[in-house]
Amino acid sequence: MEGKALTERLAFTCRLLLDRRVLELKSENERLRSFQQLSKKLADENERLKLALFVEKHSPARLQLLMGEVNMSASENDQCNCLWCYDRSDNMIVRGACKFKPYFESCLKQCGLTVEVVQDDELFDRSARQQEFFEDVVYDIDAHFVQARASTWLSCPYGAKIWKATSADDPELAKLARLFEMLRQRIIDNES
Ligand SMILES: [Zn+2]
Repeated sequence: MEGKALTERLAFTCRLLLDRRVLELKSENERLRSFQQLSKKLADENERLKLALFVEKHSPARLQLLMGEVNMSASENDQCNCLWCYDRSDNMIVRGACKFKPYFESCLKQCGLTVEVVQDDELFDRSARQQEFFEDVVYDIDAHFVQARASTWLSCPYGAKIWKATSADDPELAKLARLFEMLRQRIIDNES
């Protein structure tokens, strides 16, 4: 009888210990899960910030400024003074074919960037709700850049291939970054 009571007590203690261990494991599991969720949240936030930074550094406005700088860094003979490239601090406006356009378009080609030329009224219809970081007007057209038929390269609004990117590592954005590098290098070459 005494032996049986002892066995029962032992079994009871074992079960208590086991139950406690199961509870401990459960709470450890929960902690691990919430840590994983936090880690995923931080990784997502990091991706979001990386994209925001990319967009800030490669906005249409920055590209437009850079294009102007490239033109101004060329020798006087090579500078384009067409209505579109004209530097407003200067008094001389020369109308006519844009000298900058062929150079810029060859850069686009080298970077694998596409352009869709559309009618002005169509452009209006196809302006898009932008991705959260792009503050400039963008277009729901499947190209990197969109150009109105009547316009020139005074500005280059972005098409869907750029603004639809959801990560700074998007290969389409790498092409845009390459264009910026190419233009910056051109300024260095022109000035040396
Ligand atoms: Zn020009």
